[in-house]
Amino acid sequence: MRKQVIAGNWKMNMTPSKAVVLAKEIKEKNTAKDKCDIVICVPAIDIPAVYEIVKGTNIKLGAQNVHFAPSGAFTGELSVEMLNESGVEYVIIGHSERRQYFGETDQSVNKRVTAALEGGLKVILCVGELLEEREAGKTTQVVDTQTREALKGISASALKNLIIAYEPVWAIGTGKVATPEQADEVCGIIRNIIADLYSKSAADEFIIQYGGSMNAKNAKELLAMPNIDGGLIGGASLKSDDFTVIIDSAQ
Ligand code: PEP
Repeated sequence: MRKQVIAGNWKMNMTPSKAVVLAKEIKEKNTAKDKCDIVICVPAIDIPAVYEIVKGTNIKLGAQNVHFAPSGAFTGELSVEMLNESGVEYVIIGHSERRQYFGETDQSVNKRVTAALEGGLKVILCVGELLEEREAGKTTQVVDTQTREALKGISASALKNLIIAYEPVWAIGTGKVATPEQADEVCGIIRNIIADLYSKSAADEFIIQYGGSMNAKNAKELLAMPNIDGGLIGGASLKSDDFTVIIDSAQ
C-alpha cells in the first residue's frame, strides 16, 4: 500500500511573517494524522520560521531547490548540509520553472538529485512535457528522457526517499488541469519506467504525484486514480482552507 503525499510548493510567495501565519493555519486545520504525508516547500528565507511551527508535527518541511556541491563559490545557492541543519526533510528538484527560467538541465537535475539523496534529503523530482510536446505526441518520450536522465546512478535502495511529480507544464499555474485519465496515464508510464530501471516491486511501492492546477474542487477525482499517489500543489497551497481540503481528499 502506498501512502499518499500531499506537498505544497509555495514558490516565491510569502514573506517570513506571512509564512508564519499560513503555516500556523495549515497546522491548526490539519486533522489528517497518518492518513497521508504532508509537506510544505517554502522559500529559503522562510525555512527557520516555518520550522519552528511544524517541528514535531506530521507536517514536513521542504525546500524548493538544492545545489549539488557541498560548499563553495555558488552565489545564491543552498547546500544539502544547510538544508539538513535547518530541519528541512524534502526538496523539490527539476521543477519546470527552474528548467524554463534558470537553465536547469536533465544533467544538472541528476547532479542535484544525487547530492540530495546522498545527503539524506527526500527528493520530489519534477518531470513533465510542454504543451507543444503533448500536441506533437511526444509526452512519453519527454517524460521517459527526463526520468531516466535524472535517475542515472541512483540506486534501488535510494528510491524510498524519492518521489516523482508528474507536472505537465501546460497545467502549471494555468488553471488548465489534466483530466484524471491523462494524469493517471502518464503516472503509469513513469511507474513502468521505474519497473524497467529497477524492478516491478520497486515500481509498485514508488510514490508518483500529479501536479498542475490541482485544487480543492478537482483533488478528490485526481487522487482517486490508481497511479496517482499524491499531489504537488502550487497556487492552492497558499490558501489554508483549500490546502486542507486537498489533504482531506487524499486516499
Ligand atoms: C507547481 O508549482 O508545482 C504547481 C503544480 O503549481 P499550480 O498548482 O499552481 O499549477
